[in-house]
Amino acid sequence: MRLWGQLFTLLSLLLRQNVLMVVQGALLTGRPGKVSSTKGISAAFLECLAAINPEATCAATRVIADSLDAELYDQERQNVMINYQTYPAAIFYACTTGDVADAVQCANQFHIKVSAASGRHGFVGAALPTGYLAIDLSYLNKYAMSADNSTITIGPGATNGRLLTALHRSGISGAAVATGGCTFVGLGGYMLGGGLGFLGRVLGLGCDRLLNVEMVLADGTVVNANKDTYPDLFWASCGGGGGTFGIVTAFTFQISILPNRGQLVGVTVTYAAGSAPFVESHMAFQDWLPTASRLWGIDNADITPSPQGPVFGFQGVYFGEAAAALQELQDGGVLDNLCMDPVRCAFNNVPGYPMGVSMVQYESFYDFYLDTQAFNYLSPALLPGQGLTTLSLAQKEVALDSIANALWGYPYTPFVAVDALANPSAPMLLQEVAAGEGPYTISTCSNTTILAPRVVGGNLYNEYQLPLTRIFGPMPRSMVEDLAQLLENLARACAQGVVTACLVGFGGHTLTGAYTDKSPTETAFFFRNDMWIQFISLTTSAKQTPYLSDKEVKEFVRDFIKPYERLVARYFPRATAYANYQNPLNGPLVLKDWQHGYWGENYARLREIKSKKARTSKQEVKVMVVYVSIGILIKAYIAGTRRNCYHVACGHKKRRMEIATERVK
Ligand SMILES: Cc1cc2nc3c(=O)[nH]c(=O)nc-3n(C[C@H](O)[C@H](O)[C@H](O)COP(=O)(O)OP(=O)(O)OC[C@H]3O[C@@H](n4cnc5c(N)ncnc54)[C@H](O)[C@@H]3O)c2cc1C
Repeated sequence: MRLWGQLFTLLSLLLRQNVLMVVQGALLTGRPGKVSSTKGISAAFLECLAAINPEATCAATRVIADSLDAELYDQERQNVMINYQTYPAAIFYACTTGDVADAVQCANQFHIKVSAASGRHGFVGAALPTGYLAIDLSYLNKYAMSADNSTITIGPGATNGRLLTALHRSGISGAAVATGGCTFVGLGGYMLGGGLGFLGRVLGLGCDRLLNVEMVLADGTVVNANKDTYPDLFWASCGGGGGTFGIVTAFTFQISILPNRGQLVGVTVTYAAGSAPFVESHMAFQDWLPTASRLWGIDNADITPSPQGPVFGFQGVYFGEAAAALQELQDGGVLDNLCMDPVRCAFNNVPGYPMGVSMVQYESFYDFYLDTQAFNYLSPALLPGQGLTTLSLAQKEVALDSIANALWGYPYTPFVAVDALANPSAPMLLQEVAAGEGPYTISTCSNTTILAPRVVGGNLYNEYQLPLTRIFGPMPRSMVEDLAQLLENLARACAQGVVTACLVGFGGHTLTGAYTDKSPTETAFFFRNDMWIQFISLTTSAKQTPYLSDKEVKEFVRDFIKPYERLVARYFPRATAYANYQNPLNGPLVLKDWQHGYWGENYARLREIKSKKARTSKQEVKVMVVYVSIGILIKAYIAGTRRNCYHVACGHKKRRMEIATERVK
């Protein structure tokens, strides 16, 4: 029996190593697994999960599976990108790092692949792939500042908004870590893929200020990766992408102090509609951007098709006075061709400032950020042109948390947990929103099924359907002209009803500034020295169709996305994309050369780090094979000596053999 036991142990060890490698390989590409059914998930596996840390109470139900509660499972398995419907084998809510490690062990024991889910904002549903155990980290969202307030350690389940709230609550003026534009995006995926946003030109990528990651590896061990220990894993944790090498359970960041202690003007520049101003404004912007001072953070350099022609504009934060910001814009030559439309472009202007330029002074970046969220989560129809600027900071927090509670119903909210309807300080409009009344639309950040049951005013917008990203350097004039032409064509086709899917989201992050402070190979984020990270997507209204019809999708891909892709390829032939904005995993928009596409020259090193781990695993297996084989031989020998030994000396020999066998057990 013992011999069989040892053989079984050997076999399962080999199998386990193999499974771990498969998990790692699958996660590197971020591709969901091929298993298509969640039936047959063994009760023993679910029991293994249920037995983890039974005292923990972070979530009401911690183990979720189709076989346990189909309705709950259907709610809980959702990704924010609704077009990726995935069916994980089970979802496990971890309350501690130890829970994550134990859950990984359970999965290994039952040969089930593992994924991590933080904010669930990944573009391709890789947080909860079909057939995997999805370990949900949303309750790992606590934070702690170091005694000298120079660093912050925070869980991956915390959101962008929560990190900023934490820094604000520290009371240190200007304390910052670079985060992204939408408050509910999880730090887990965001930071591991790089992290772009308003503060990028000032502080660099979100992950550039990482000091340490606590990580559960595929075999369940917990390690700390930093520049001294596991430096390779640490390097890969900045741009390598989520789900690649292990599950991060805590990030530690250096806290930066923003220029001018964080006092800033929020600036929006909008240019006139039409091909000529579109081209000229782009060229001027591209000339100015690399030379702009480090007091400027720039984001949302967006393009909008309109019946009057394409429109370009950008948003920025300037850490200084409004007059100085205006002077820099003037000196930079970016104030020609401004929008002169009093309806679209006259809001928030400081009297005497040009139309098309909006400037609002803020006490802190946090204050500014809260305002942008009002736009991001509710359309300008909510408070036309004003965001939440007229409210106090505390009221803004209440207002945004009300939105969170009312619309998202998520277990974690970034601000203060307040019920809008019960709170008299929440503005009336928000109370109406919470009650599902009024003509409000949901915009930029809120593309989620989680919203679906609470469609506000019947106008749910599912954004980012079919997203396609491209990263490239400054565009030659002819490329901008071609782009203008493409947008003109789209607007014309829409007006004539030729194309039905006319709502296009066309977002632009821009690099330069502190993004370039590290070299492309210093972290795993390679494409630092480019200028544009553009993404286009289709915006659909759930009021009409929750999903686009196949015909509409095909038309849109044929008439707009493919021509855009070809246009970029004419000028930048080797397609590159941001690891955090993964392109569709199949169909015509797949990024074919994805190895280079997401990681450039860093792919080889990422691959090597993985194979180094795989080699280590193989060595461990070899050592185990040797040990277990010795054990088997000894066992056989003992059996033989037992059979043949009839004299006293055999007794000693037998004892020695038993000791040896004990050692290898
Ligand atoms: C509305 C919206 C706005 C966005 N805005 C920005 C922006 O301004 N700037 C920007 O740079 N990006 C932005 N993104 C992209 C975003 O950074 C990525 O989608 C990111 O991966 C989301 O992280 P998450 O934790 O929310 O997602 P998840 O879907 O939970 O995770 C994404 C991937 O990371 C893995 N992962 C998650 N947590 C961990 C962990 N703890 N350890 C290991 N792997 C993990 C998952 O397995 C999955 O593969 C935006 C996305 C959306 C949908």
